[in-house]
Amino acid sequence: MTYLKEVLNQKKTPQTEPIPGTAQVANSAGGYAFAVDDWTRLNRFLILGSEGGSYYAAERALTAENAQAVLRCIAADGLRTVREIVTVSDAGRAPKNDPAIFALALAASHGDAETRKAALDAIPKVCRIGTHLFKFAEFADGMRGWGRGLRTAIGKWYSEKDASRLAYQMVKYQQREGWGHRDLLRLSHPKPDSETRRILYHWVTQGWPGVGVEPHDDPDLRLVWAFEKAKTATSAKEVADLIREYHLPREAVPTGFLNDRAVWEAMLPDMPMTALIRNLATLTRNGFFENKENVRAVTAAITDRERLKAARVHPIAILSALRTYSQGKGERGQNVWNPVAKVVDALDAAFYASFGNVDASDKRYLLALDVSGSMSMGQIAGVPGLTPRDASAAMALITAATEPEYTVMGFGTEFVPLRISPRQRLDDAVKAISNLPFSGTDCALPMVWALKNKVKADVFVVYTDSETWAGNIHPVQALRQYRDRTGIPAKLIVVGMVSNGFTIADPDDAGMLDVAGFDTAVPQVMADFAR
Ligand code: CA
Repeated sequence: MTYLKEVLNQKKTPQTEPIPGTAQVANSAGGYAFAVDDWTRLNRFLILGSEGGSYYAAERALTAENAQAVLRCIAADGLRTVREIVTVSDAGRAPKNDPAIFALALAASHGDAETRKAALDAIPKVCRIGTHLFKFAEFADGMRGWGRGLRTAIGKWYSEKDASRLAYQMVKYQQREGWGHRDLLRLSHPKPDSETRRILYHWVTQGWPGVGVEPHDDPDLRLVWAFEKAKTATSAKEVADLIREYHLPREAVPTGFLNDRAVWEAMLPDMPMTALIRNLATLTRNGFFENKENVRAVTAAITDRERLKAARVHPIAILSALRTYSQGKGERGQNVWNPVAKVVDALDAAFYASFGNVDASDKRYLLALDVSGSMSMGQIAGVPGLTPRDASAAMALITAATEPEYTVMGFGTEFVPLRISPRQRLDDAVKAISNLPFSGTDCALPMVWALKNKVKADVFVVYTDSETWAGNIHPVQALRQYRDRTGIPAKLIVVGMVSNGFTIADPDDAGMLDVAGFDTAVPQVMADFAR
């Protein structure tokens, strides 16, 4: 009767068939997995985006699929959708804000009246800087008309900021995506409620009346005056003095002076964290770090937890900077520099600091990284060469750095120890797993291996795209077997590394959790769940 027994056996089913009695769906690899619900999908999209596509889907197709999921969320509960978008964006949990801006534009275009209003009201929370607003305008322009609701909402972005903050936004973020403040002011024409604001709007739409010798009487307008004045500067000293006095941002410095060390020294005290991290190579090339005091100031700044948090610096941005900076040459190879070791070390420390304080759960962890072929295609958050596999290594190191008991393993159709640890430099750890030659995928291996080798684990964390197909038992079945035979109520956390619709976690099992890779909230969520 073996042949009869096997077909409806819920305890052991090959991954090429669905587990009988469940709602499993075919994944893209020829196996079966669970479908994530649209809310999980929305979260994955907001965190991971769809830039660069995946092994199984081109960028355009993956984006379209995600947009459909967002639209279903909007139809099911538009207000909740807007809340989720605002939550992820406002806390800086995602490497890029673009998916949130895109989803907000969808809600502002396709929601019911109440949802559209909520989405428009949320513009200042999601579009915090000029560049975000320009991107929103570009998305909205393609999705809906410039009706009164949209014009009013854009107008409020300008009229509800205080004048000095607005002046800074106008100086720092001048245009993007074919949109500038001039276009948006002309479309929305907010009514200036003060002389300061009237002059600001006039400056953007008509130009500045002439700089003269004296700074502007109105302190809120001096930044604009200095910006215009810098355009006429003839020496680096003159520019540096304007920066010191009026706190001009980098965007206000004429290009010809951007290679000058004195100019950068003047900018340092006010430089936003993201700009600082992005310009480390420039600073190295222009000799800025020859002054040891500058090295000290920069390394102290970029490892400062509070400043990282306030500036919403995402760990991916730091990882990206670390990779580029430590290799000593730009992506296109024209620029070269000698990386300063202390700066590299500071970036390494900044990566861990950017996740904030995570309280250890003191559970036993088996961190299992899917290193199969499909994880080595596509890119995370548009960072060149940063694959889901590389990113999962960085993600696993966060837990490894926090929890006292862990094992890091990698799998395709074999299960092998990975020699990575938080004591290594981050980019070395990533490199160590970048070129592993795995092809097939069996996501059940962590549990099967642990059972066979009598390894005690309270939590299995699997970093994967859930495109599993090669095993003769499903991951959830292997987990239940592990629980039954060891008596440990082990949990499974699936860290989704691609914004697709699949998961190996059973949505009906409370001991299993889906999270999106590179959500800065994830390490804490994982520890809480484990506890
Ligand atoms: Ca795979």
